[in-house]
Amino acid sequence: VPAGRRSRISGWLWSLVAAAVYRLGLLRLLRPWTNRWELAPGRSPLVRRRRSRKVQILSLHRVAPGEDGYLSPLPLVAFEERMEFLARRCSVLALDQAVDALVRHDVPENAVVLTFDDGYRDNYLHAFPILEGLSLPATIFLVTGSIGTGRLIWHDRVFRAFGETRCVELTGFPADGQRHRLDDAGQREHARTALLRWLKTLDEERRDEQIARLAERLEVEDARVSDGLMLSWDEVQRMHARGIGFGAHTVSHPVLSRVSDERARQEIDASKREIEARLHCPVRAFAYPNGSQRDFSAATKRLLREAGFDCAVTTIFGTNEPAAEPPLDLLELRRMGLVEASLPAFAAKLDLYRFVAHPSDGSRVR
Ligand SMILES: [Zn+2]
Repeated sequence: VPAGRRSRISGWLWSLVAAAVYRLGLLRLLRPWTNRWELAPGRSPLVRRRRSRKVQILSLHRVAPGEDGYLSPLPLVAFEERMEFLARRCSVLALDQAVDALVRHDVPENAVVLTFDDGYRDNYLHAFPILEGLSLPATIFLVTGSIGTGRLIWHDRVFRAFGETRCVELTGFPADGQRHRLDDAGQREHARTALLRWLKTLDEERRDEQIARLAERLEVEDARVSDGLMLSWDEVQRMHARGIGFGAHTVSHPVLSRVSDERARQEIDASKREIEARLHCPVRAFAYPNGSQRDFSAATKRLLREAGFDCAVTTIFGTNEPAAEPPLDLLELRRMGLVEASLPAFAAKLDLYRFVAHPSDGSRVR
């Protein structure tokens, strides 16, 4: 069976099992047990008494009723359903509370933290009313150069180019002789995903040039600004006054391990200073752009410490626990994306990942 088909089948089986487990209420029945024991794959004994309670940090970006040609949002209905589930079944903590709890070895049962990266305006329009209605805390990590300016983060320039093109084919990109068919939405998405992956490997300057060249090949304008896609400072201030936390996510979203230390320092310090000046309060949390293990270094962490950050979130998949081995590093907090379409799959995975010991395998948020 080809790998693609196999993963589709396993995805389908997984949804079916998750739906059954969820509908039959098995998650709740299993919890007293899964809250005391954990599975340690590849170790002996395979099942052992859990060492400590875990904090699961969820990583979100956009929340909107439908697609708009930029980075795909989580559908509003799915978001609302999940937040209601979390409010009912979990202890949703603010990020700083969770960090305190980890440091004091005093994590509550089923602890979850909500984080949003980049600073999209839909966080204010769609996510915030739901969070406020359910009294759920959350932290938004701002790319400060885009807040109030509408400057597009580079991935949105790519989304927009593919969304607007009338071309049915992209040829000679990235290299001579390469060809991508663009006849339908599926083909466009396939090409876009492949090119985004490639663009991530380039340094900033080359990436910028290549996106401009891509727009030219796709015969669209390389728009660098969009009204209403990113938050304004006024919206940030309004949410902050009503309990939403804010963290820094650089000024222009560079991959920090690929720029000079001097440049990294500017990006880190300037984003922190701007949020502090606008909100009149200290900023202590940071999110690494891209956020996988190779996207930051020991030098990046040193810069964060010098700038006065207490914690930093990655996109390395996993949970956070006080008694971890190797010891918990507050500048490398693990997160999970849980992008499943259905609530049962979301709920089942949340429990499963708490039950499996230290599932940090260095891969990207799932
Ligand atoms: Zn980001």
